[in-house]
Amino acid sequence: MTAPSAQFVTTIGLEIHVELKTRTKMFCGCPVAFGGEPNTRVCPVCLGHPGTLPVPNEKAIELTNKIAMALDCEIAPHSIFHRKNYFYPDMPKNYQISQYDIPIGSRGSLDMEVGGESRWIGITRVHLEEDTGKSVHVGGGGRIREAEYSLEDFNRAGTPLVEIVTEPDITSAEEARVFAQELRSILEFLDVSDVRMEEGSLRIDANISVEAPGRSGTKVEVKNMNSMRSVFRALEFEEERQRNALMNEEELVQMTRHWDEKSGVTIPGRVKEYAFDYRYFPEPDLTPIEPSIEWLRQLQEELPELPIAKRRRWMEELGLGPYDAQVLTSSPGVSVFFEETLEAVKDANPKQVANWVANNLAGALSDTGERFSDLKITPSQFAELMDMVASGEINASQGKEILSAMLLTGTSPGSIAEERDMRQVSDRGELEAVVDEVISNNAEVADRIRAGDMKPFGVLVGAVMRATQGKANAAVVTEILKEKLGAS
Ligand SMILES: [Zn+2]
Repeated sequence: MTAPSAQFVTTIGLEIHVELKTRTKMFCGCPVAFGGEPNTRVCPVCLGHPGTLPVPNEKAIELTNKIAMALDCEIAPHSIFHRKNYFYPDMPKNYQISQYDIPIGSRGSLDMEVGGESRWIGITRVHLEEDTGKSVHVGGGGRIREAEYSLEDFNRAGTPLVEIVTEPDITSAEEARVFAQELRSILEFLDVSDVRMEEGSLRIDANISVEAPGRSGTKVEVKNMNSMRSVFRALEFEEERQRNALMNEEELVQMTRHWDEKSGVTIPGRVKEYAFDYRYFPEPDLTPIEPSIEWLRQLQEELPELPIAKRRRWMEELGLGPYDAQVLTSSPGVSVFFEETLEAVKDANPKQVANWVANNLAGALSDTGERFSDLKITPSQFAELMDMVASGEINASQGKEILSAMLLTGTSPGSIAEERDMRQVSDRGELEAVVDEVISNNAEVADRIRAGDMKPFGVLVGAVMRATQGKANAAVVTEILKEKLGAS
């Protein structure tokens, strides 16, 4: 029996690890940073020497509470740390301090939009733990099985790490991608993490299973997805793989699979035959976390407007389209740039500005891989450019040319326009003379238009534009031409 694809049900849950942007590690004073000479940011505490005691980082607890609040979680009035016991070379203590049955936040949700429809994805828990070190496998292309030997770098060991677990509410690869992007934006607006997937400060794992009528699903864990795009591609591949297995009546095995970006497939890893016993027990060296109501209230007040709220407000108040609103709230950098440009413009309207920021400017940045925070130009320079376009001083294509030059040099649009002699000609008298000449040079075309045939109208507009080296205001040219030829 084969089931038509419409009868398949895909269930996805995500597990996200976020390294917090604190100055120091979770339980010691070693600085938190990425990379650097191996084993230079370590001390007896994060190396797990006997007799040392952990001291919790209050800032990390604060940031975890903010994440839990932004995800609408219930905040535990009393939560504790547990020891998760297991042996792995990258973990010097042989146990990880984590949270187990009483996390800081639980039963939350994330509100998002997929294809114009609202979706609420349940958040099971938000808890705080410490990160492990990193194993570097030498030889064999860096893969553990083929390596000659492995080295350990403990610089990352003890970095505050938040784990966010969703309910299995996600039903497609696209929803998983939207969720991951929305969560990343929220974390950026909260200013709690660098959220750089390529550096590992944001790590996403997924559980996915596909069910067919009469056949229950088999949970597969997918790891090693290092970008938003690979989250989508890996889950789409895995969904298809499981569907095919169900259609061909093949047996699926509960296992971990690793996404291979280059070949575009998931590769089988460990088969999960039994649940590992971590022998959790309450961490005896740490006291419970018991936040006061006043402190929690203060954190709640400090929460910024979240991206989805901002997006809905801009769509309603400024009339922005969903795409522009989405791009403009994807990171605090772009959203602040847009807000500051809006404050500085005189003639340009919010929709025009939104369109230019979301398309021309964001597009130029994604080409060069820069972030809004790296921009050479200021919102007030950009506002000046917007006003030049809105007032007709320059046309849109000149505006784009000026923008490219501004991004390279950081100079003002006015001076670039002057240097390149790019002011748009809107003066009627000046343009009428050109229009008259174009009409007399194209008498036959002009006659057709006079007779009511509007098809060749564009030819005359084009001729005027060429005659003015593209500087004529096309709207004014069209107006003059229509008057002179009695066309409507
Ligand atoms: Zn340390």
